[in-house]
Amino acid sequence: MDPGRKTLVVIGGGMSGMTVALEAAEAGMAVHLVEAGPSLGGRVAALARYFPKMCPPTCGIEINYRRLRRNPDVVVHTLTRVTAVAGTPGAFEVTLRTEPRRVNGRCTACGECVAVCPVERPDDFNHGLAKTRAIYLPHAMSYPMTYVIDGTSCKGAECGECVKTCRYGAIDLGEAATTRTVHAHAIAVATGWTPYDATRLTNLGFGRFQNVVTNVMMERMLAEDGPTGGKPVCPSDGRTPARIAFVQCAGSRDRNHLPYCSAVCCGASLKEAIIVREAAPDCEMAIFYIDRRVMGRNEEVLAKVEADPKTRLVRGKVAQVSEDPATHALRVTAEDTATGTRSEWEADLVVLATGMVPNTEGLPLPSGCALDEFGFVVPDGETTGTVAAGCVVRPAVMTQCMQEATGAAIQALITAGA
Ligand SMILES: Cc1cc2nc3c(=O)[nH]c(=O)nc-3n(C[C@H](O)[C@H](O)[C@H](O)COP(=O)(O)OP(=O)(O)OC[C@H]3O[C@@H](n4cnc5c(N)ncnc54)[C@H](O)[C@@H]3O)c2cc1C
Repeated sequence: MDPGRKTLVVIGGGMSGMTVALEAAEAGMAVHLVEAGPSLGGRVAALARYFPKMCPPTCGIEINYRRLRRNPDVVVHTLTRVTAVAGTPGAFEVTLRTEPRRVNGRCTACGECVAVCPVERPDDFNHGLAKTRAIYLPHAMSYPMTYVIDGTSCKGAECGECVKTCRYGAIDLGEAATTRTVHAHAIAVATGWTPYDATRLTNLGFGRFQNVVTNVMMERMLAEDGPTGGKPVCPSDGRTPARIAFVQCAGSRDRNHLPYCSAVCCGASLKEAIIVREAAPDCEMAIFYIDRRVMGRNEEVLAKVEADPKTRLVRGKVAQVSEDPATHALRVTAEDTATGTRSEWEADLVVLATGMVPNTEGLPLPSGCALDEFGFVVPDGETTGTVAAGCVVRPAVMTQCMQEATGAAIQALITAGA
């Protein structure tokens, strides 16, 4: 990087962070893109498809990857977190700690190491619906396309099978974490969101009943590269569900959990219902909702589901999900506010539309950078030198995140005087 250039540190390598980094770099800044996970892409990489166009997530992500590959002004730091921020706008010192990948750039992603690795671990990308070996590729669209070793499950040198098998000398089981400090004129926060912890919704049975899953798990089931090859299944026994209930606002717009609306969950469940229909033409579905909140072209997605004779849209908040332990059959109890009656619905699979929690807990931010009462960043580039974009600012669909990311890049250029 040219030391004379204005520098931006972007924290978070999802679609929002990648976009801020690229737009700022293409306008002349030098950028450090800092991603905590082993790959860029964020939560979008795990979606089955994007609404409203219903195309696979590869579309948008691959465009950004290509821009990144061609742009030497963005230095990507995966497995890295910011541990401290000192200084003031125009002169920040940002400390980065990088965890060991234990696999270097000589990796060709041939996968021969996986075949000999004896250890299995829950696959976090698939929300525990599948397993990986201790050495694994984060996901099919990984950037970098390099394997990683989970240090907590790997047996280390006492095993060493992957080292013996790798023809490229790409594995270093002894690699250690590193720390470095970079100078920055501005900082952009784009750390995104985490799904609300569904085990806290004790009335809805997640964690107790195997066939109660969350919307992000359903995205993985419905993804063609997912653990069930794009088909909805009952985790209890792998059968195709004949009846699926979607529970909207699972914890959202609820003072006991997340008081706010997560803005994407109605669109997400409608999209999932459309994909289920393709995979399971006879499946009956019911979507229990408080309000149907879709905007822009997602009206088309809603209209398509409304026209499906085997899908019911029931206005009513779900009070409880119970299970017959012998058969794992589920019963959804809700008040149907359209008729004023209590409604009971039998289901094989229940999908909880849980909301978004901003990834700001424990995140070191420059002094003066504020969070709102729910933990979302309040961007104020002018005063604090820190801009923000995407779901760390508010729950949002991708188009809104992208627009905001471009705005954040412009604000970063102004703030840094670039
Ligand atoms: C079930 C569901 C379905 C959805 N479907 C659609 C859809 O079809 N179409 C659509 O437009 N939108 C959809 N969305 C919304 C979409 O997922 C978000 O708009 C998108 O993820 C926002 O991207 P982001 O980059 O802001 O955040 P994220 O995707 O969360 O990316 C944030 C990145 O920051 C990293 N990170 C977190 N903390 C740190 C840290 N401390 N240091 C460094 N890095 C960090 C994360 O690892 C991640 O890579 C859906 C959402 C849900 C819940």
